[in-house]
Amino acid sequence: MSVKELRFDVVVIGGGPGGQKAAVQASKAGKRVLLVDRESAVGGECVHRGTIPSKTLRQCGLNYMHWTRDFVNQAAGEQCQLAMATLMRRQSAVTCAHERYMSRQMERNAIVIWRGHASFTGPHSLEVKAVDGTRRPVNADVIVLATGSRPRTPPNVPVDHENILDSDSILSLGYLPKSMLVLGAGVIACEFASVFAALGVKVTIIDKGDRPLAFLDSELTTRFVAEFEKLGGAFLGRRNIAKVEFDGVSQVELALEGGEVLRADKLLCALGRVAQVSGLALEKAGLAVNPRGTIDVDENCATSVPGIYAVGDVIGPPALAATSMEQGRRAVRHALRLPPMGVSSTTPVGIYTIPEMSSVGMTEAEAVARTGGVLVGRAKFAELARGHINGDEGGILKLVCDSAGRKVLGAQILGDGATELIHVAQMAIATGQDIDVFIDNVFNFPTFAEAYLVAALDVLEQRQALARAA
Ligand SMILES: Cc1cc2nc3c(=O)[nH]c(=O)nc-3n(C[C@H](O)[C@H](O)[C@H](O)COP(=O)(O)OP(=O)(O)OC[C@H]3O[C@@H](n4cnc5c(N)ncnc54)[C@H](O)[C@@H]3O)c2cc1C
Repeated sequence: MSVKELRFDVVVIGGGPGGQKAAVQASKAGKRVLLVDRESAVGGECVHRGTIPSKTLRQCGLNYMHWTRDFVNQAAGEQCQLAMATLMRRQSAVTCAHERYMSRQMERNAIVIWRGHASFTGPHSLEVKAVDGTRRPVNADVIVLATGSRPRTPPNVPVDHENILDSDSILSLGYLPKSMLVLGAGVIACEFASVFAALGVKVTIIDKGDRPLAFLDSELTTRFVAEFEKLGGAFLGRRNIAKVEFDGVSQVELALEGGEVLRADKLLCALGRVAQVSGLALEKAGLAVNPRGTIDVDENCATSVPGIYAVGDVIGPPALAATSMEQGRRAVRHALRLPPMGVSSTTPVGIYTIPEMSSVGMTEAEAVARTGGVLVGRAKFAELARGHINGDEGGILKLVCDSAGRKVLGAQILGDGATELIHVAQMAIATGQDIDVFIDNVFNFPTFAEAYLVAALDVLEQRQALARAA
């Protein structure tokens, strides 16, 4: 017996941040919306294997680090026992709470949810295969692809999810290893590396570049490496992998080109992510991936096929939860001919390492390359009362201004609260503020936000020195 094809105004494939926001936006516009995801709960990679669990683990690492620093007399041999099961329980509690909240949001917006794997049967038609094998045909004028990404595993890294892990399997470790090798020095690699180092694991990052997070301001990454080393970590740059294998007993062996061999209890492979397009039968919709394996879209997230949009990790960088959400809303607003959203030129970057880092607008090097000259104000957390109270004396805030020392062009922060603090600079840049805005306003005391005032005063001093010299 053939199953009747159902019709919706909008079908969204993938229930991560991009898909959810696309679905809610369409529902708020009065459309009949179907969201398909093969997972048993909404949230996507973001909630089940990405942002939420990794940030929860990070928070635990940070709490543990502060607890042992403030309350455990290590010099007297006191120890603070840490059980992986406790961390996992916390992770699962946070994930479940987030899942519940999102399910309620979908319900409130009357979004129909189907569990199953979606694949195209034509440009406007899909088939959804449920776990029990049932197949349901569906069609829609607008289809939003938000199928996300998965970890990239190079052929010479035999990930077994037991000893050689990826960013999915590291989140379900049964016990805390004594040592860990981390392949890669991008955001995910550095986040996990610093979190496990804070949890007391001896971590070594191995990468082919000469510094981690090469897209960031180098002053920040130098400080990050110094802080990572204080946690007992090591960064080995300019290294290429020759071979990775589990020794069959208890250790992973990493052979590097040139003969160096490293050993550890576990190895995390964090060498990037690939778009999740397998089994979608893109060709039936007239779509194909580009040479990078992602789907090409225009500024409205429209693909080359009218009515089909793609958002989130499946379209490639920046591949963040925040940008995926914005793309989901943007795509649906365009598809439904709703007034377009403004285009933001100040998307911040937040990196949840320990210590955390954040950046918005131009870095010092970018500003020099683009404008010829800049003034940079610095505020060291070691010179802030809040830095002393929090025990974060390695932090720094950099305020990048034009050569006249007036217009704010960018900001970079390393230290406690960096990912929150950055939004102050974001608003200053978005509204075209001069640094005087930080000098003319009162900041709570003691706060890290006060760093803006200190950095702005630093720029003011340089501005006055230039005026005197002229
Ligand atoms: C360890 C880690 C930490 C991260 N930390 C941060 C962070 O701190 N901040 C940040 O902004 N971003 C972070 N990210 C990135 C963020 O998680 C992603 O950018 C975001 O999840 C992408 O959202 P998405 O909507 O593209 O889809 P995803 O969240 O990837 O979800 C896609 C969904 O589509 C489903 N799907 C795929 N194919 C099909 C199909 N054919 N049929 C049905 N369903 C399908 C998948 O099962 C999945 O549920 C992190 C990622 C990782 C891995």
